Amino acid sequence: MDTSSALNFNNTQIAFAYKSNAALRRDYRIFQLINQNWLVQFGTQAASFLMDVGFKIPIAIGMKPTVYATFCGGNNLNEASEKINKLYQYNVKTVLDYGVEGKEREEDFIRTENAIKEAILYAANKETVDIVSSKFTGLIPFSILEKLHAKTDLTAEEKTIYEKSKSRIFDIAKLAYDKNVSLFVDAEESWIQQPLDELTYELMLLYNKEKPIIYNTAQLYRKDRLPFLKKCIEQAQKDNIIYAVKLVRGAYMEKEAERAEKMNYENPIQDTKEATDNDYNDALRITIQAIKNTAICVATHNEASSLLATQLMQQHQLPTNHPHIQFSQLYGMSDNISFNLGAAGYSVHKYMPYGPVKDVIPYLIRRAQENTSVSGQMGRELKLLKDEVKRRKLFFAI
Ligand SMILES: Cc1cc2nc3c(=O)[nH]c(=O)nc-3n(C[C@H](O)[C@H](O)[C@H](O)COP(=O)(O)OP(=O)(O)OC[C@H]3O[C@@H](n4cnc5c(N)ncnc54)[C@H](O)[C@@H]3O)c2cc1C
Repeated sequence: MDTSSALNFNNTQIAFAYKSNAALRRDYRIFQLINQNWLVQFGTQAASFLMDVGFKIPIAIGMKPTVYATFCGGNNLNEASEKINKLYQYNVKTVLDYGVEGKEREEDFIRTENAIKEAILYAANKETVDIVSSKFTGLIPFSILEKLHAKTDLTAEEKTIYEKSKSRIFDIAKLAYDKNVSLFVDAEESWIQQPLDELTYELMLLYNKEKPIIYNTAQLYRKDRLPFLKKCIEQAQKDNIIYAVKLVRGAYMEKEAERAEKMNYENPIQDTKEATDNDYNDALRITIQAIKNTAICVATHNEASSLLATQLMQQHQLPTNHPHIQFSQLYGMSDNISFNLGAAGYSVHKYMPYGPVKDVIPYLIRRAQENTSVSGQMGRELKLLKDEVKRRKLFFAI
């Protein structure tokens, strides 16, 4: 069946069928608020200031029934289960993302390791969840990754810490393999990426012989990622493994530009959005072309790229539920893509952060900033929610 031509990302009835009227109203109001540039600027600055001076609790209280409810699963896996099960009723699975970020102490690394393992055990044998996400900066000190990337020698103490971190990561990967759960490794700043690429490839050699278990991430806003991807696929073909990769555009554009300017090297980020889009779409072409030895997660909110992926699958006569092709959007965003893909039989996931409210505040601030309107126009998410509010005739919410 020609499913891609039947796909309609404007179908808000399918997109929001999982939301009750109350949840739809809440999310509509939240997006109305965060669409206001001045409010988000003021709110995020105030929140960052209050966090810096140790007042996390009042912000957490304000966020829990609002942005947290819109963008996160819950305090813990138990709490998140309700949302996870609900998504699955609409053929949408969940990628679990333990949302605690930016920790540097040994006890934090242990906590993150335990949380990722707990998520893998939760996902084991569940239809609703088959992927767990991880950030290796939650398991290895950033400063060590930075040194490894720059090929600077580690001190004896750093070497010991690194070996310990590595063994933690290998433990997690083995558990994922044993439980048949895939593990996503997020990409972060370009100046720590090389050791992450090496580590993930090492893990793929161990665990991706038959199925895609370990996924690296390629940020196509980087000028060098398309050639990198081609090289990895060629190498994987030689090594007879599946090169699994989450394809994203990239989330650290400003930070990358600032550092490049400050340290006087060429900005690694593409010069234009169009160049990023071209490389993203080419990445879809080369990976889907080589799908026998690759596996991808089309992790994007971009409708054109999502549609292109479905068209390429059709051209290559791949079934909609091909085990090497996943789609994913963040929980609370682009439901029009996720649920319309799910309804058409594609393998689609919501990326769901969970954890204590006070620990996911930085994530929530990023979501608010991303959805604000710089030009004063109504954002895409808000427009879709408004269409559905109207369709359901919930006029008093407008
Ligand atoms: C499931 C999922 C997992 C993710 N995991 C990661 C991850 O591990 N690491 C990570 O960095 N990000 C990750 N992201 C975020 C992602 O990188 C993007 O920031 C976000 O999804 C927006 O891009 P888009 O493809 O959805 O769509 P679009 O809205 O079409 O693209 C916006 C993106 O285009 C790029 N861009 C914008 N303007 C320019 C410009 N002038 N020049 C060059 N490029 C430009 C930027 O990357 C920007 O984020 C993830 C996203 C999802 C949905």
